[in-house]
Amino acid sequence: MTLDAKTAFDALRMREIVPALRQEIGGHPLVYLDNAASTLRPQQVLDAQNAFEESSYSNVHRGVHTLSQRATQAFEDARETVARFIGATSSNEIVFVRGTTEALNLVAQTHGRQAVSEGDQVMVSEMEHHSNIVPWQMLCSETGAQLVKIPLTESGDLDLDVYHEALSERTKIVAISHVSNVLGTKNPIEEMAQSARSVGATVVVDGAQSAPHLGVDVEALGCDFYAFSAHKLYGPSGMGALWGKQDLLEAMPPWQGGGSMIRSVSFSGTEWNELPYKFEAGTPNITGAVGMAAAIDFLEAIGLEPIAAREAELLEAARSALLAESSVQVLGDPKQRASVVSFLIDGIHAHDVGQVLDQEGVAVRVGHHCAQPIMEFYGVASTSRASFGVYNDASDIDRLIDAIRTAKSFFAV
Ligand code: PLP
Repeated sequence: MTLDAKTAFDALRMREIVPALRQEIGGHPLVYLDNAASTLRPQQVLDAQNAFEESSYSNVHRGVHTLSQRATQAFEDARETVARFIGATSSNEIVFVRGTTEALNLVAQTHGRQAVSEGDQVMVSEMEHHSNIVPWQMLCSETGAQLVKIPLTESGDLDLDVYHEALSERTKIVAISHVSNVLGTKNPIEEMAQSARSVGATVVVDGAQSAPHLGVDVEALGCDFYAFSAHKLYGPSGMGALWGKQDLLEAMPPWQGGGSMIRSVSFSGTEWNELPYKFEAGTPNITGAVGMAAAIDFLEAIGLEPIAAREAELLEAARSALLAESSVQVLGDPKQRASVVSFLIDGIHAHDVGQVLDQEGVAVRVGHHCAQPIMEFYGVASTSRASFGVYNDASDIDRLIDAIRTAKSFFAV
């Protein structure tokens, strides 16, 4: 089957392409609206991983035998694919990691330690996932720097006036998500990066929720680092990428020590390997890289522009349907948004909502979504979150609303 936007957005055909969608949950065809947590994998990604495992799997680099050469080729081809996907100038700027969390920790513990000293400031926003807060908190407590919060507004946007005013020569790093995993807010990275650069701060972008949904060009964003995970873009878990500007990566010390990250080791001194290997100690997730590249091929065959347009339509339809529903509240109303909507049902705990929806075959995520500061801001403990992917269509929104009505009648709301 040729994959293009037309084929992909045909829900029935998508069920042929994504095996996990061909099942029933609670006697109902599965509607999967938990894409912001992890997307389901298309057959072509599973096939690419299997084919690689069956015929080319071995350890990468330094092997002279055929399988090692094949594995190295596939691994490095995957790096090229990732570089092209996000508009990096060179694949040397792509460091393979376990995912967004590891990428952000890497930056905090290498560039962060270099750039930040006592009295400096690191700025993060109030809408960050914990993985873009905690590594910076750790850095600040280690260095004596101050962690400064870019506040949220009621609509779920960042308060840019406060941001611009708070920036100063003391600001060394600004770390922000491109798209919020709770509110769907799409932050104006270009504008924020430009101001950060004017005070000499580096800009770290958490792209976990943007890479799968928007065409990303890291050069155009104007950031210094961009992190994302394969399992949110139809690839495997335990795999992701960090992009960094070559000069910054060159200047950074290595993060973890071990095999592969060295050029030579002796008790009188060790020399680091060149980029990107300096940051890739130990045996990497080789099949994961192959799967990530296959997932990118899958997305690119459909086209990032049609994906963004289609998901925007679905998001607006879902928001309108939720807003029209009695006893349902939608969290935030950000100016620009993508693929995610969080909601509350009066009188029903989000975990109960999640359970009833599951019985109706509708998978959503409930809880604090690893973004407790957002929950605190809105004064709620948890929300239910629907998030969209390429295989969702309008009938999934109908099923979501029907399931919400079932929950409301079950709890007599
Ligand atoms: N940042 C955002 C915005 C996320 O949504 C997530 C995962 O939900 C992460 C970071 C962490 O990603 P991972 O668990 O793949 O490292």
